[in-house]
Amino acid sequence: MSLLQDKELTAITIADIMIPAEKVAHVQENNPLEHALLVLVKSGYSAVPVLDSTYKLKGTIGKTRILNEILGLERFEIDLLSDLRVQDVMITDIPRLLKEDTLIDGLKASIDYPFVCVVDKEGYFDGILTRRAILKEFRKDFFSGRNKQPK
Ligand code: AMP
Repeated sequence: MSLLQDKELTAITIADIMIPAEKVAHVQENNPLEHALLVLVKSGYSAVPVLDSTYKLKGTIGKTRILNEILGLERFEIDLLSDLRVQDVMITDIPRLLKEDTLIDGLKASIDYPFVCVVDKEGYFDGILTRRAILKEFRKDFFSGRNKQPK
């Protein structure tokens, strides 16, 4: 049995279930928009964190936001992909979690977001918490003990 299976749901922290920074695809705020779109398309992610050169979290950027930004009246203005930078388009008003926060804090923060960024007290990027990771913990808890896993 894993350590996490032994833990009460309410005792699980963000550190237990987050994806660490080194495994998270990201872009930098001064990258051209074209680079961000390439990272998103190649990784298959709908959005990724945006960091500065010191690894501080600045926001997130997603495919839909980029495509909306370059959408002209009748066609996509492809030149804008090299003219604009990630910082011109990213979302900065995002929730943030600390590693010490609880699974329940993570649940509340991720209601409106498929993933939430995790930072330290100085704002340096530590990783992300996905809604998928939260749902997996609740599934484990629900089907343990008296509730049985369906076939
Ligand atoms: P998932 O729950 O795995 O479907 O992930 C939901 C969203 O979280 C993805 O669409 C991405 O925006 C983000 N995400 C998940 N894993 C990563 C990762 N390793 N690197 C960057 N973004 C990620």
